[in-house]
Amino acid sequence: MSRRKKIYEGKAKVLYEGPEPGTLIQYFKDDATAFNAEKHAVIEGKGVLNNRISEFIMTNLNAIGVPTHFIRRVNMREQLIHELEIIPLEVVVRNVAAGSISKRLGIPEGDQLPRSIVEFYFKNDALGDPLVSEEHITAFNWASTQELDDIMALALRVNDYLCGMFGGVGIRLIDFKLEFGRMYEGEMVRTVLADEVSPDSCRLWDAQTNKKLDKDRFRQDLGGLSEAYAEVATRLGIFRDPNSALAEGS
Ligand code: UDP
Repeated sequence: MSRRKKIYEGKAKVLYEGPEPGTLIQYFKDDATAFNAEKHAVIEGKGVLNNRISEFIMTNLNAIGVPTHFIRRVNMREQLIHELEIIPLEVVVRNVAAGSISKRLGIPEGDQLPRSIVEFYFKNDALGDPLVSEEHITAFNWASTQELDDIMALALRVNDYLCGMFGGVGIRLIDFKLEFGRMYEGEMVRTVLADEVSPDSCRLWDAQTNKKLDKDRFRQDLGGLSEAYAEVATRLGIFRDPNSALAEGS
């Protein structure tokens, strides 16, 4: 692994050169960060669990016709992906108020929103990923109007699918973040789902108890993060029981 060329290192993942042109290897680290990386910890097993959960979700999204960068999982911590030109936006879909929307607009955490809301944040750590409007995005050429239409439609399809998928295993999908990129295929450019979809990038609450099964356990020092992610993986049928999920994670 260390002999491969590193293309990019982020907070929770590393990208290496792939085996063929146009591919990359995405490696899931155990590092957890929050509050624009002011808070950091290494949580044993997180990378393995996110690799498996994201594989499961991306595979299902591919199957319903949502184009994703995912090709296949290679091992416990790595997956083969298509190389994309990343669109510098974090696309957040919200069903229930929590986190920054509760703070910004004073909506109590846990309130059902009148409809699903899509928000855009400019991906820029130095600026703290500010909330931006479609006007900013098109004026500054971060994405075209056509790409924004594609992103909006894909984000809402992903939301419908994930709400059903998690709902079926007793989990409420509160909100989540997606990233998209451009995939060049000859003359064609396609808008494709990138990054990961995992409890690091979603808020997931147990439908009965509202127990948080996501990265808020780290942000809020609630503990038991690997156990919560293992529970999500087990409920989705990725592992037979949480203990085996945790054992694989370690
Ligand atoms: N999110 C993320 N990465 C970020 C910011 C947010 O994955 O850099 C996810 C977060 O886990 C949540 C959703 O996007 O599921 C909405 O996050 P919010 O805007 O409420 O910000 P936060 O409260 O996490 O700062």
